Amino acid sequence: SKTPVTVIGLGEMGQALAGALLGSGHPTTVWNRTAAKADELAGRGAVRAGSVADAVTASPLVVVCLLDYATVRAALEPVAERLRGRTVVNLTNGSPAQAAELAAWVAGQGADYLDGGIMAVPTTIATEEAFVLYSGDERVFAAHRETFEVFGAAKYLGADIGIASLYDLALLDGMGFLFNGFHHSVAMVLSREGASAVEFTELLVTWLTNMAKVLPALAADVDADRREGAEPAITQGLDVQLAADVNIREAAREAGVSTAELAPGTAILKALLAAGHKEWSAPVTVRHLRSGKD
Ligand code: NDP
Repeated sequence: SKTPVTVIGLGEMGQALAGALLGSGHPTTVWNRTAAKADELAGRGAVRAGSVADAVTASPLVVVCLLDYATVRAALEPVAERLRGRTVVNLTNGSPAQAAELAAWVAGQGADYLDGGIMAVPTTIATEEAFVLYSGDERVFAAHRETFEVFGAAKYLGADIGIASLYDLALLDGMGFLFNGFHHSVAMVLSREGASAVEFTELLVTWLTNMAKVLPALAADVDADRREGAEPAITQGLDVQLAADVNIREAAREAGVSTAELAPGTAILKALLAAGHKEWSAPVTVRHLRSGKD
């Protein structure tokens, strides 16, 4: 029989998680501050808890998905004594330090704690595309792995409680550049009469897909540099990169498009130049960023 699970927080994501549990036959109890968000799930067989205390008491496994960690703390603190012996899995977005703080508090109540990061949007939960990162005690993860697989591929990253948050935020960081670049490049193209964002984006997706394929080789250069200080396989003259950077800025200005969004890329190239580098490579760029210098 399937583990009974409680889901606390029925925003867009919490509803998707609870829906996935119901769909796979887990007895599911739900709670949300705005009770009406449980209506549809209750119609599908979820038990609607009248309070957080009732929700926690209903299941050995408690999945939390709220706005932020302060909200999680505010929800769980009044029911601290009910947590003993249960497993709390917090899938709310937060920083590694927040995860460590909450983990210590939950452990203090005699409960197990896993931290997680959801790499999916609500509509892709329980599809092939979704994956969820977990960190914390491996035995606790293993005990509930099958249940976690209901949401999407369950990726265990290690006992370091903050690592799921770190990877989650780093993945969002990478995505941020993708979307910023998309918006900016579309804005440039639309300066031409008759230009179509959809037509341009076909080219952009082909281009970015090709470029994304280069990332593993760049990552290998970064790892080789850290292990044995090897020469990177992929380099390019900084002067060539800087020349292109100047041209992108000029084209943006001519198109009447803001250039402030180009600042991060330019800043890195200029910092490498100032540090005496002649060549761009992934290792020197990552080393520069890790120096913490702005
Ligand atoms: P929503 O805004 O849809 O839901 C927010 C949830 O937090 C609701 O349940 C809301 O309750 C609750 N909440 C907010 N403030 C309080 C409070 N003071 N007390 C009690 N409950 C409160 O957000 P999502 O469901 O989209 O996001 C939830 C988490 O999932 C976030 O950490 C987000 O980063 C993460 N996530 C979301 C993704 C997405 O695409 N949506 C993707 C990956 C992760 P109420 O309904 O009463 O307002």
